[in-house]
This record gives sequence, structure tokens and C-alpha cells, in this order.
Amino acid sequence: MSIRTPAYEITDHNHDVLIIGAGGAGLRATLGMSDGGLHTACLTKVFPTRSHTVAAQGGVGASLGNMAEDSWRWHMYDTVKGADWLGDQDAIEYMCREAVPAVHELEHFGVPFSRTEDGKIYQRPFGGHMRNFGEAPVQRACAAADRTGHAILHTLYQQCIKRNAEFFVEFVVIDLVMDNEGGCCGAIAWNLDDGTLHRFSAQTTVLATGGYGRAYFSCTSAHTCTGDGNGMVARAGLALQDHEFVQFHPTGMYGSGCLITEGARGEGGYLSNSAGERFMERYAPTAKDLASRDVVSRAMTIEIREGRGVGDGEDHIFLHMEHLGEDMLLERLPGIMESAKIFSGVDASREPIPVLPTVHYNMGGIPTNYHGEVLRPCEDDPDAVVPGLMAIGECACASVHGANRLGTNSLLDIIVFGRAAAIKACATIKPKTRPKPIPVSETERSLDRLDRLRHANGSIKTSEIRSNLQRAMQRDAAVFRTLESLEEGCDKVDEIVSSMSQINVADNSMIWNSDLVEALELENLIACSQATIHSAVAREESRGAHAREDFLDRDDEKWMKHSLAWIDENGEVTLTYRPVHTWTLSDDVDYIEPAVRVY
Ligand SMILES: Cc1cc2nc3c(=O)[nH]c(=O)nc-3n(C[C@H](O)[C@H](O)[C@H](O)COP(=O)(O)OP(=O)(O)OC[C@H]3O[C@@H](n4cnc5c(N)ncnc54)[C@H](O)[C@@H]3O)c2cc1C
Repeated sequence: MSIRTPAYEITDHNHDVLIIGAGGAGLRATLGMSDGGLHTACLTKVFPTRSHTVAAQGGVGASLGNMAEDSWRWHMYDTVKGADWLGDQDAIEYMCREAVPAVHELEHFGVPFSRTEDGKIYQRPFGGHMRNFGEAPVQRACAAADRTGHAILHTLYQQCIKRNAEFFVEFVVIDLVMDNEGGCCGAIAWNLDDGTLHRFSAQTTVLATGGYGRAYFSCTSAHTCTGDGNGMVARAGLALQDHEFVQFHPTGMYGSGCLITEGARGEGGYLSNSAGERFMERYAPTAKDLASRDVVSRAMTIEIREGRGVGDGEDHIFLHMEHLGEDMLLERLPGIMESAKIFSGVDASREPIPVLPTVHYNMGGIPTNYHGEVLRPCEDDPDAVVPGLMAIGECACASVHGANRLGTNSLLDIIVFGRAAAIKACATIKPKTRPKPIPVSETERSLDRLDRLRHANGSIKTSEIRSNLQRAMQRDAAVFRTLESLEEGCDKVDEIVSSMSQINVADNSMIWNSDLVEALELENLIACSQATIHSAVAREESRGAHAREDFLDRDDEKWMKHSLAWIDENGEVTLTYRPVHTWTLSDDVDYIEPAVRVY
């Protein structure tokens, strides 16, 4: 059926479930929901196997115990500690326990994991993963060489195709459509290929749109990681949670920002300063180079600041792998060898790789419970859910990563919560129910947005505003933060919000108009950045990735709570808070009490 609105013709679709995003999270949910007999549509702005999940290198965490004894309880402890006690422990328990069956499922779907001599899934050490509640490193990262994400994403896509899931590829979702009771009834999307517009209605809509690394100037994530789902949620009048927690990965390649997996240190690589010193021994005597990412990134930043950086500008650090031998590197880390050669001109089997902490992951996102249902916290009920809306993967905040994510826990998050969302949807949705009526005003809201940007003829290019934003975030919401830098950042981001009235979109075609796509993405990046910087200035403590130089300690009494940023249509940000879950799911699992975090 086609409906004509004043300026645009729209084609209507009706499905039981609509999944927005075809990365690991979206595909795992698509697979499970199709399996459960739900009429499932998956929309994606890039071809599924080009989603950022394809770039994940090091591994997916699960306590399989293939290399030495391991336990999901140790994994849970490490995750709670890594999260600096901001994670919800019910969700963390769920993720670490379900990790084992979820990874075995991946194996049965056909993921080509690397193998041990006796044919089991190969597991390598990774930062913050320890045995026996923090005693010594354990090998928990299930790896397919250094191309684990590639292996998982391609396998999941093939499994979805086998189940006849319906894909809408190169469809850019513009906005969610909400009903008059505050529930979600679907989304509006633009087909880049022929310029047509589409309205999808569904019993449940699942956001799986990935992170917003591109809010920063130097990041490891793909150009498509622009926080679109987070932007849609903010525009729908819902909150964004814990956005101040942005992970800097210790080993982005100096210059390009391309990632060198933590698996490089897991396999025996180490960092050194200009004196040739293996400085992590000073900062983390037990875990050394395999301490949590926030800890290693801060140590590197301090070394550089105190004049012990390497290179002409003394502005980076060396990562050594040359002692590991070429044969081992080619077998276990072939992708890293290749990237080091291409982006740094370095033969990693002979010389160190120049590295620098680089934006890598967003711990915050759309607040959900461990079923993937989106929350609309209010004073009476901090865990109230939004009917018909789910969020999974990096765009969501379950919250399992709290203030700092452990390596390998994101591939795990997308698999476990993609699966959890499918289990919940299959249990609650009645297939082939009549579509929910979509209020006219909601269609108009999205089309007005599209139309406004499409015909924007101000004086500032999209790329210029984006670059201003990325530079402000890079400088003012960095590894270390002060009131001064954050306030300056808030002012700059607020100025950028105002400058959007001057945006110029050069082309007004509806077919493959990448300038218009970038303008839509920029609005989402701005919403993500506003939530990040405003939540950061308010949080007067240091916790996980949020390191305040003016508030050096963690303050559990005042700040063991999740930040919620609400952005109104005028771009004003209001902050509220919801308590961290201090309970577990099972009677025989104890809440892990906050403790000092040392590695
Ligand atoms: C270089 C790199 C290496 C990493 N290595 C590891 C690792 O070894 N282990 C680990 O655990 N984690 C790793 N991570 C993190 C992890 O890979 C990601 O957090 C995770 O893959 C995100 O998956 P996702 O499904 O949530 O999103 P993505 O894979 O980013 O997919 C997002 C999807 O949403 C779609 N989308 C977005 N906006 C729209 C829109 N407006 N309309 C339609 N579709 C849209 C995109 O097309 C895409 O299909 C790594 C990350 C990077 C950047």
C-alpha cells in the first residue's frame, strides 16, 4: 500500500519484528526471531557483512576452560571489577553464565574458530581476565586468529539467509515512530538505491545500530559508527544512559588510529617508553600490560605527559612483538602484521609498532534490562520499560560494561543479548497480529527532519561542523578530564548545536545522496556528544574510563548510579539518575561488594 503525504510517497510494510542494524547484535537477533517463527525484517544502512563487527579482532570471552580451569563466576567477578562497580550485576551474571552456551552455539553455526592441538576452541589471554577472582591472567578469549568478528559476522549472515530472513539493505532509518501511549510502533526508512521512503510497522522494534566512535577525531571504529539509534531514541523523548564512559583502547596505531588488538599483548607483546622501560610493571604489578584498558591508557598518557614518550614529538609509545618470532605472529596475528605494514610501514616481527590510546568503545547507550527491553526510568519505577522497543549491542547499555568494558566482552554482549532479545520476543509476540496504527504526526516528524536537512542551504558544510565536533570531543572529553576542559567542551558542543541552523547540504537528490546521509548522521553524533559531555561534567568522581583530575577518587556514596541524559527538541540537556542494580539473578550468586580496583 502506498500513502501520499504532501511531498513524499511512502510504502508501508508490516512485520512482527523490525531489527535496525545487521552487525553481530542485529544478525543474532534476526536469526533467533526468524527461527522462532516471527515475520522478521532486518534493515541496514550498509551491506550486513560490512558492519563494524567485521573489524573485531581479538576474541569473544567465555569461560570454556579449554586452556586451563575457568569459571563463569570468575568471569562475572572480572566484569564487575572491570566495570568499576557501575555495571548492573543481574545483567552481568546473565551475560557471563550464558556466554558458554552462546559460544558453543556459534561453533555449531559454523564459526571457524582457531583450534588447540586436541581440537578445542583456542583461547588467549586478554586484559582484565583473571583466574580465581583476580589472582593471575587466564585464557578466556575464544579466537578465530585475529579476525574473530569477521568469522562471526559472515557465519551469522549465512545462517540468516538460510532461514529466509528478509533484509532491506542500504536502507537508512531516519527515525522511530512512537504511538500516543509512548510505545514504539516501527520506523521510517529511506532506500538509498532508488530514493523511496518506507514505513515499517512492527509489534517490536529492535535497535542494533552500534556505537558512536565517530564523535571523536581519532577512533578505531568504522565511518558508519555514528550513534543513529541513540539519536533516534533521544528524539523520541527517551534517555541516554552513562554516555560519559567512553573507552580509549591503549593500542590504536599512531597516526591512523587503526586498532592493534589487545590479543597482541595477550600473546606476549608489551609496551615501552623512551627509556626502553616496560612501564606497566610500575602501574599494575600483577596484570602488567594486561591490566584493564582504562588503566593502561592512563598509564600511557602519564608516560607521554611526563616526557617519556617515543618518536620525534615524544608523543606516543612503542608496542613490542618482535621477540615473539615471525612464525608465531603469522599464525596467531596475521591481520596485525598486515595492518602494521600498511598503516605504519613497520614489520612487527622486527621492530616495535608506534601506538597511542584511541577512542574505541561506548560503554553508555540506550538503557535496557537484560532481556534487551528499553527502559524509560521514572521516579516511581527506575526499571519501567517502553512497550515495543528493544536495544542490543553497542548502542545499548544493559549495563554490563559499567564504567569500563573488558576486551572480548562486546562480541559476547552482542551474541548474548541478541539471543536474549530473540528469546523474549518469541515468548511474548503473537505472530501476524494486526499492525499498530501509526499516528500521522509521527510520520510528519521524520519527514520534516529529512526535508529540513535535504533543503538546508546555510553557509557551513556538514563536514566542517562534524570536524568541529570531533575536535572538541577529542580535546575536551579525553582520557583525563577537568572541570575546565569539560565546561569548555560543553560550550563548544552547545555552539555546534546552534551552528546546525547554518548547515549546508549540497545535493538535494534522494538517490545515493551521501551528503544528506552524513547530515542525518551528524545530528545523531551531536546528540550522542551532548549526552557524553553534559553527563561527564556533572559526574564529580573518577570511575573506570571517566578520570577526573579534580576528583581523583571513586565516590560510591554519591555516584554509584547511572546517568540519564534527556535532550529536548531545543537541544537542552536534562540529567537524572537511576540506581545501579545491586542484586543478582540466582540465589546462589552473591552480590559482589565494591572494593578498591587494583590489577
Ligand atoms: C577495530 C575494532 C576491533 C574490535 N575488536 C573486538 C574484539 O576483539 N572483541 C570484542 O569483544 N569487541 C571488539 N570490538 C567491539 C565490537 O566489535 C563492537 O562493539 C560490536 O561488534 C558492535 O556490534 P553491533 O552489532 O552492536 O554494531 P555494528 O557491528 O557496528 O553494526 C551496526 C549496524 O547498524 C546499522 N545501522 C546503523 N545506523 C543505521 C541506520 N540509521 N539505518 C539502518 N541501519 C543502521 C549498520 O548498517 C550496521 O549493520 C572491536 C571494535 C572495533 C572498532
